[in-house]
Parts: sequence; structure tokens; C-alpha cells
Amino acid sequence: MTQRPGFPVKLAQTGASGPSGKAPATLPVRSSQPPAALAPRVASSVSGLGLDSGAVRARMVRKLAEQGVKDPRVLDAMGLVERHRFVESALVNQAYEDTSLPIGLGQTISKPNVVARMIELLCQDATGKLGRILEIGTGCGYQAAVLSHVATEVYSIERLRGLHEKARTNLRPFRLHNVHLIFGDGMLGYPKGAPYAGIISAAGGDAVPEAWLDQLAVGGRLIAPTITPAGHQALVVILKTAQGFERQVLEAVHFVPLKSGVA
Ligand code: SAH
Repeated sequence: MTQRPGFPVKLAQTGASGPSGKAPATLPVRSSQPPAALAPRVASSVSGLGLDSGAVRARMVRKLAEQGVKDPRVLDAMGLVERHRFVESALVNQAYEDTSLPIGLGQTISKPNVVARMIELLCQDATGKLGRILEIGTGCGYQAAVLSHVATEVYSIERLRGLHEKARTNLRPFRLHNVHLIFGDGMLGYPKGAPYAGIISAAGGDAVPEAWLDQLAVGGRLIAPTITPAGHQALVVILKTAQGFERQVLEAVHFVPLKSGVA
């Protein structure tokens, strides 16, 4: 993939630790290449599968529906994003299996089923497209790409510079102008985009950070793997109402840990 010099390579960093000390500016992920120019790469990277990637994705979507994912917005979005473009070439033939996969630096991309389930929870009770969404843990950028099809704006923050940059490279060909990648500590949220219609975390902490609750809009939903009082990690859904917060603890999950600071 070639990169033209005009592409905005400077990326935002949150917090007072930024080199200039100035407020960070987010940049949409953009590509200098038209989608048609990408076709040969897609064809060659999936040829190892002996299958057309659209057909494999359609099969994945059917399986998600069989597993109980109902929201057509979510199923459509899952069908649109080429997951094989987010994994190492050695793992391309597993890209559409219902499995989590390593993405480097000890992190993993969640199973398609978990991504779909969380986004369905995020969309619950909302009609049409969601507004601004904050994703904690960009990782390889896959979930941010899926979110870009169900929300008007996606702010996605990652604490590991190597993955933040990898996501930028992975997302560029998709030309998703509504995805904003931020390098920073997501435990602080991202106040510049607040209030959010939804917050979704791909990393699990001991508790939901106060900043996330503050930055959620009234009527907004937060989905995060969190350690429960019983001591295991489960999906927690928090709805912010004018009166306060409604919290629901759902099924047990296994996400990478939410860590503070950047690296
Ligand atoms: N949504 C991602 C999943 C990545 S795994 C994808 O589609 O690939 C979770 C990610 O959360 C890891 O990359 C990890 O580095 C990141 N993470 C953990 N704690 C974080 C924090 N405080 N702020 C931002 N990212 C964090």
C-alpha cells in the first residue's frame, strides 16, 4: 500500500503528556487510493482460502444470525467489513472463523460473535444510526470499522502506539471518514467528543472508570467487560438516565485487561 505525502500522518494524543501541550486534534482515517485499486490485493489475500471473501463473510453473518444476533444494522455491518484485512497474513484463513486472533503486542481481536453481540447491545433501543460512539481499545481497528457503519462518528482510543499505528494502516483503504483514531489512555475517556451516545470497551477493568460515566449522554449506553463482585469478568451494560444509572450484568467474557497510561 503506498502512502502519498499528503496523507495526514500526525495523530492525536490525549492528556497533558502531549509534546506540544496543546489540545489534540483528531483526524479521520482516509485513503489516497480509490476502492477499485484495492481489488487485486483482496483477491490475492483471500485466494489462499479458495473462496470469495464476500461469500465467506455472508456465511459468517448467517452463523451470527443462527447464534442469536438479530439486529439487521449489526448483521449488515458485520457483512460489510473485511475481517481478513485486519489479521496477519498467516492467519487470513481463520479470519472468518468464530475465534479470537492475536494482533500483536499480546492483544487479540475479539471473536466476530462477541463483536456483534456487544454492538447489538450498544444499538439496543436506538432507532436508525447511533450518534457519536467512543471505543476504548482500537487494537487492529476491526471493531472500529464495524462501528463506523452503525454510528455517525466513531472515536477510538488505543494506549499502545504500535497498535494505534497498525489500526491506522489497516483502516486507511476503507476510507471511513467518520472514524477518528486517538492515541491515549482510554481510562480517561475522550472528553473532546463527549457526550457519547454509546461507549464500548474492548478491554476489561476492575470497575467502569468514572470518566466514561461522565462522558456518556443521557439516554446513552455503555458496554464494558468488568470484574463483577463475584470476581469474574462479565459484560456490563450501563444506561444513563436523567435519574441516574441503570446497570445490568450479563454473560461471562474473557477480554484483555484495561490498563492505565500509554506505551
Ligand atoms: N477492538 C479491538 C480489540 C483490541 S483488544 C479490535 O477490533 O482489534 C483491546 C485493546 O484495548 C488492546 O489493543 C489494548 O491495548 C487496549 N487497551 C487496554 N487498556 C486501554 C486503555 N486504557 N486505553 C486504550 N486502550 C486500551
